[in-house]
Amino acid sequence: MRYSALKVLTQGLTGNKGWTPAWREPEPKPAYDIVVVGGGGHGLATAYYLAREFGLHNVAVVEKGWLGSGNVGRNTTIVRSNYLLEGNQPFYELSMKLWEGLEQELNYNAMVSQRGILNLCHSDPQRDAFVRRGNSMRLSGADAIILDEAGIREKCPYLDFDNARFPIRGAIWQPRGGTVRHDAVAWGYARGADMGGVDIIQNCEVTGFRIENGVCKGVETSKGSIGAGKVAVCVAGSSSRVMARAGMRLPIESHVLQAFVTEGLKPVIPGVITFGAGHFYVSQSDKGGLVFGGDIDGYNTYAQRGNLPVVEDVCEGGMAIMPMIGRARLLRMWGGVMDMSMDGSPFIDRTPVDGLYFNGGWCYGGFKATPASGYCYAHLLATGRPHETAQHFRLDRFARGAPIDEKGQGAQPNLH
Ligand SMILES: Cc1cc2nc3c(=O)[nH]c(=O)nc-3n(C[C@H](O)[C@H](O)[C@H](O)COP(=O)(O)OP(=O)(O)OC[C@H]3O[C@@H](n4cnc5c(N)ncnc54)[C@H](O)[C@@H]3O)c2cc1C
Repeated sequence: MRYSALKVLTQGLTGNKGWTPAWREPEPKPAYDIVVVGGGGHGLATAYYLAREFGLHNVAVVEKGWLGSGNVGRNTTIVRSNYLLEGNQPFYELSMKLWEGLEQELNYNAMVSQRGILNLCHSDPQRDAFVRRGNSMRLSGADAIILDEAGIREKCPYLDFDNARFPIRGAIWQPRGGTVRHDAVAWGYARGADMGGVDIIQNCEVTGFRIENGVCKGVETSKGSIGAGKVAVCVAGSSSRVMARAGMRLPIESHVLQAFVTEGLKPVIPGVITFGAGHFYVSQSDKGGLVFGGDIDGYNTYAQRGNLPVVEDVCEGGMAIMPMIGRARLLRMWGGVMDMSMDGSPFIDRTPVDGLYFNGGWCYGGFKATPASGYCYAHLLATGRPHETAQHFRLDRFARGAPIDEKGQGAQPNLH
């Protein structure tokens, strides 16, 4: 069914009885050409591009819960392409370009809202670093504008410019950054993949891999064994647990990250604002709630629930740049399990087991990467070659001494 304004109108006038389910609920077939493990944003996008761009339709997505139950439905919805390093920037810019055409392509309202992202800086050296980042972005075709204090005051006069510890000295502004409604992305890709013939199998947990003589021949699941020409894992926060079932140890740790939403307020935040001297980022949803987050909790866990010390830390970050946020009442908060890599950058790669592929290590930033990650993973699966923008996201990069340390902070997940 194609969605359109006319369809909404005619359905509204006829009792909304003609809508059909957005995707089927098939039982698994005995075998597929490709089985994608994990029905989060990345798994669904991969399946969609396999069908649409590479003509591969005998594909299944196997999801242990329901679509949107993982990080794709738990994040703070920020999209941007304001990276510095050559290994990252072209990839995230590809993702931004794919976001820009996504709703028309999927015929699905994902509420892509390019309201801009403002990264504040609080010292002269930090401003120099932001100018360098902005130049790197522009060299890869992205948009970046350096704002001085007056430029920021025009957009957000209520910020605490003269805070004694963290005075606001300037900002880098990416007008094409913004937010996208997170779970609509999962639903839109699911619908698109289903229309391309992909079987989406929910409530089906992968419990093991069928590996014979070093070749992966399929997966064991809670709904039985499924054969596969190729198995593509993308289970985000569960990466280390799932890949351990194939005998692999990854350079990834799982940590919880929390998100927060306040009561609805009148429009106050133009786009996304980030604090440059700590970890705090905030935007405003269409319903008016301030949506914000900060640091990971800092201990290893697979729990989707965080602890109070980080709540305090995040709120302190908010108060440091925007004291009026202290008047807003917090309505709800939740956690998601982050697949934190040791350099803060992801992996899209084949593994030492033939036919077994891995996508993960997305840390805080995998939502914005969803379209490019799906596209590049599908490219690798279909052609056997990494996509040019994802060629640095290799599993052996630490052994080769080639990490992609975007922040230059060293090999600790809590620093990225
Ligand atoms: C609080 C929070 C805020 C965030 N904010 C942002 C942000 O603003 N911007 C941004 O870019 N990124 C953000 N992120 C990160 C982003 O959400 C993730 O990096 C990204 O969603 C991960 O990819 P995914 O969507 O495929 O993951 P998920 O949705 O977690 O998908 C993985 C799926 O694998 C399934 N699975 C696990 N084990 C198995 C198994 N054995 N068998 C079958 N299926 C299995 C899970 O059930 C899950 O549905 C945030 C994350 C959190 C938690």
